[in-house]
Amino acid sequence: MRNAVPRTIEITKVSTSKIGEVDFKNLNFGKIFTDHMFVCDYVNGEWQTPKIVPYGPLTLDPSARVFHYGQAVFEGMKAYKDDQGNTFLFRPDENFRRINKSAERLAMPEFPESYFFEGLHTLLKLDDEWTKSGFGNSLYIRPFVIATQPSVSASEADEYRFMIICSPAQSYYSGDVNVLVAEKFSRSASGGFGYAKAAGNYAGQFYPTKLAKEKGYQQIIWTDAETHEYMEEAGTMNVFFRVNDTLLTAPTSDRILDGITRKSLIALAEKQGINVDVRPVKVDEIVEAAKNGSLKEIFGAGTAAVVSPIKSFGYKGKNYEIEKQENSYASHFKNALMNIQYNKAEDPFGWRVKV
Ligand SMILES: *Cc1c(COP(=O)(O)O)cnc(C)c1O
Repeated sequence: MRNAVPRTIEITKVSTSKIGEVDFKNLNFGKIFTDHMFVCDYVNGEWQTPKIVPYGPLTLDPSARVFHYGQAVFEGMKAYKDDQGNTFLFRPDENFRRINKSAERLAMPEFPESYFFEGLHTLLKLDDEWTKSGFGNSLYIRPFVIATQPSVSASEADEYRFMIICSPAQSYYSGDVNVLVAEKFSRSASGGFGYAKAAGNYAGQFYPTKLAKEKGYQQIIWTDAETHEYMEEAGTMNVFFRVNDTLLTAPTSDRILDGITRKSLIALAEKQGINVDVRPVKVDEIVEAAKNGSLKEIFGAGTAAVVSPIKSFGYKGKNYEIEKQENSYASHFKNALMNIQYNKAEDPFGWRVKV
């Protein structure tokens, strides 16, 4: 990889922190950002000197390709602080790998590993006070890359900007959700880029989700684009079904995002002797399981909410309720994962990385 040895990051600090103005007890997710941001431009075939600068607006040419062709990818990760004030990341190597996998699919240049980790750690240390300790508090980290080249010509750009911004977050519990199983719309297709964390995948979800909300559902369970017979993801999360004491989840593919929470839950379940069946999951078998009472739980899995329980699903005009479980797998896994993330439990897999 070119530029494998990091150039020194140029740091411009804010003159006064705005942290004093923030009400950490009433945070709206993703609205407030820390004092600094990481920026690195790609020009003339090379990533330039990385910078950390005060958080603030960008100046881009209106013809920058990101605005016209959606050439943009991102990541979502978190920093967690234990009671002693140590800050940790959770499997950040996976986010690094994935943003470059997403970038490759959108014909964007690979970002160097040393820049990513130097930039991330330096930024987190600089804005360390923004990560609050306490179970559920975290710093949401959003690395992203956009095509900045001015020109509305419809091909991949040759200028890009890589950035990292950070937003303090609290654990939130929005209640168990009702979901609608997609019968017409799709999130992704075979041969497409559903496996990439690409901005456009999200844009395409908003309209069908809006229609579902009008019918009283909070999210959609996406099914395969060809037949709509198989369950794939829940909203922007991977999805698990508990039938009796077995967990079912779809295998990853070019339509399904390879979630870090998903793969961590599978590893935890296997270690704890809980049977996980990774295989295509038919809508019909879940409907049948809901009818005969063997469907015990459905939950989404992703970095933002960790585990998000689903209380009912709608399909072909019918609604299927799932009875609330005592000692649910959802709450068990949520706690097990958070205990590792917050340095409250052993980390047998070596997932925690100290900042
Ligand atoms: C980000 C994302 C997930 C969850 O991935 P994590 O790595 O667990 O946060 C699942 N599905 C989609 C479509 C996503 O964009």
